[in-house]
Amino acid sequence: MLIAGSGPAGLTAAVYTARAQLSPVLVEGEPSSTSDQPGGQLMLTTEVENYPGFPDGILGPELMAAMRSQAARFGADIVTKKVTKVQLDSSPFGVWTGDPSAPDPDYVAEAFIIATGAQALMLGVPGEDRLLGYGVSTCATCDGFFFRGQHIAVVGGGDSALEEALFLTRFASKVTVVHRRDRLRASRIMQERALGHPGIDFAWTQQVAEVLGNGKVTGVRLRHSTTGEEQELPVTGLFVAIGHRPNTAVFRGQVELDDQGYVVTRNGTATDVDGVFACGDVQDDTYRQAVTAAGSGCMAAIDAERWLEARGS
Ligand code: NAP
Repeated sequence: MLIAGSGPAGLTAAVYTARAQLSPVLVEGEPSSTSDQPGGQLMLTTEVENYPGFPDGILGPELMAAMRSQAARFGADIVTKKVTKVQLDSSPFGVWTGDPSAPDPDYVAEAFIIATGAQALMLGVPGEDRLLGYGVSTCATCDGFFFRGQHIAVVGGGDSALEEALFLTRFASKVTVVHRRDRLRASRIMQERALGHPGIDFAWTQQVAEVLGNGKVTGVRLRHSTTGEEQELPVTGLFVAIGHRPNTAVFRGQVELDDQGYVVTRNGTATDVDGVFACGDVQDDTYRQAVTAAGSGCMAAIDAERWLEARGS
């Protein structure tokens, strides 16, 4: 049993498969930058108040450390490497975690669970990385509550940005949508809702040039997309909603992906390859919550366990 990915989905799959005596190996990834490290997107958040069981909330990295030690306690073998190549066209599956041109895989697995998650696309402007979790967020459902009565900005012009903006009006005194063009990309119905909303205004043809603040966000520096003219917008939060990218590059051509690159699952967590399962954000562009990822990790573990049992493994 091999699991790729160490967010809530992968670690929950590891807890379940380890307790089922399947001796899982979990390839957790390797830290390569602040925004890319084992543990997934919760490593980039501060307070998590909506994960059941923590009435006073818990820090994202603490929650992930607890899940990791829970998986290790039951005997999951956690490997701090990245999956660099897979061979899923014949069983047992081959998984490389080192040089992908090596003739032999580093691991062979009878069952394989893909839990490599997704990444929120980021702007890549000064201040953004430093203030991530301190006013910069990629999830309104997770963090909106912390901005009660405050003026906040959402960047993006697609459905995600408008959905986040509409949700944030429940908490914020004002939401400014910053969009780099003068026309939205979002669907007509979302546009109608947002454009007519009294709690939302728009900064058209503006790009975020810098996130300002020392320890927490105090504003954003905006730059006009055509004239280059700059102005400051005094906000205490910035929600980046310019899209997500599932971490599936290594699986392309091996399992079915949809046109956005997400793994296609059916009948629970099965993929189009017998014995390969997928869970968490890598196959979910709708809910994207830690608790739904953990739930689908549990489903993948049970599906994989039953699949192995059915073939007498
Ligand atoms: P999207 O449709 O690709 O929109 C991304 C938005 O971010 C675009 O407006 C784009 O600007 C802007 N953007 C991209 N890179 C940027 C950058 N570096 N700086 C500033 N702005 C940048 O992504 P999405 O909104 O996440 O939606 C993805 C898919 O999920 C879509 O098919 C969408 O319909 C669907 N979805 C649906 C719902 C819903 O129905 N409720 C909710 C969420 C998502 P430009 O317009 O200038 O390119």
